[in-house]
Amino acid sequence: MDHSGRLRWLQAALPENKLDLLLVTHLPNVRYLCGFTGSAGALLVSDRGATFFTDGRYIAQARAEVSSARIVIARKAPFLAAAESLTGPRSGRMGKQVLGVEGETMPAAVRDRIAALLASRFKLRSSPPLVERARMVKDVEEIGSIRRAVEMGARLFPILRKKIRPGTREVEVAGAIEYAARCAGAEGMSFSTIIASGQRSAVVHGRASEAAIPRCGFVVCDFGVILAGYCSDRTRTVHVGRPSRAARQMYEAVLEAQQAAIASVRAGVTAGEVDGAARRVLRQWKLARYFTHSTGHGLGLEIHEAPRLAAAQTQELEPGMVITIEPGVYIPGKWGVRIEDVVVVTPSGCEVLAPRDKELIVI
Ligand code: ZN
Ligand code: ZN
Repeated sequence: MDHSGRLRWLQAALPENKLDLLLVTHLPNVRYLCGFTGSAGALLVSDRGATFFTDGRYIAQARAEVSSARIVIARKAPFLAAAESLTGPRSGRMGKQVLGVEGETMPAAVRDRIAALLASRFKLRSSPPLVERARMVKDVEEIGSIRRAVEMGARLFPILRKKIRPGTREVEVAGAIEYAARCAGAEGMSFSTIIASGQRSAVVHGRASEAAIPRCGFVVCDFGVILAGYCSDRTRTVHVGRPSRAARQMYEAVLEAQQAAIASVRAGVTAGEVDGAARRVLRQWKLARYFTHSTGHGLGLEIHEAPRLAAAQTQELEPGMVITIEPGVYIPGKWGVRIEDVVVVTPSGCEVLAPRDKELIVI
């Protein structure tokens, strides 16, 4: 990963955003900029360079992972050590400087402490999401990591098919998948595995519960793995027992909506237009009011990143963005279906990663 290049880009972006320094505390951003993968760190970036603060647990790890910034091992919280480093003798400039902080993710109490400490010399300002914006467009190495993660997730699907049986509890299915993912080398799961069967399939984020899989009905299976820090995300909905005509139709509708949304993806279209493509199909099927979430999201170091593919989102897609396309229909108390793939935006369209197992599978 080109951490030095990313840092140089950020340094160059500071003046045009009217910031003298930026304190990066959101750990995925810290990782993106300097490579540190631990759980305590802060990165202070100015036009003169970058300094990384961590604590004594991470001495060896910081030295192994961080090469693009000076490393300071602190005896206090890294954000505090970073702020205190700015209280030393004044160098050069008079007047208050502007210190950007990550307002979206920084707890108010942390911000208050920093503001109190630096009150005489710095004005604190919430920075625009500069690093998040840069992270939207993935480089070749990042796309490779996501591709491998998605491929691993797809290879685990046959385990689901074998494990899903009437009477088996959802948590057992999730457990089998998670165990297999770890055995295959996953660092962890991208989020709590969703196995939602029968009536629970209508619960959009139906984390695996103790409920037993019924004799007949849909099972929504949504899970992802983390490889080299990058997340995958994929949903397949299977049917246990013979599906009714209505069940088949609903599956057909969701699949058609997903394919329409995928077909609409290319550089230059807005996130809102992709969302609209899925919704248009479901409107034709008179199911649009049961599609209660957005069509997709970016993913990478985090499972949910920019851009968000929802109505009225004006963000234009760019080559190298990696997004999910995941329309769903949920009829409360009855059933639900979602189909989700990860796609890489290209200049003329998109590449769907591991686009298999999409016809309705009956178990
Ligand atoms: Zn998902
Ligand atoms: Zn998703």
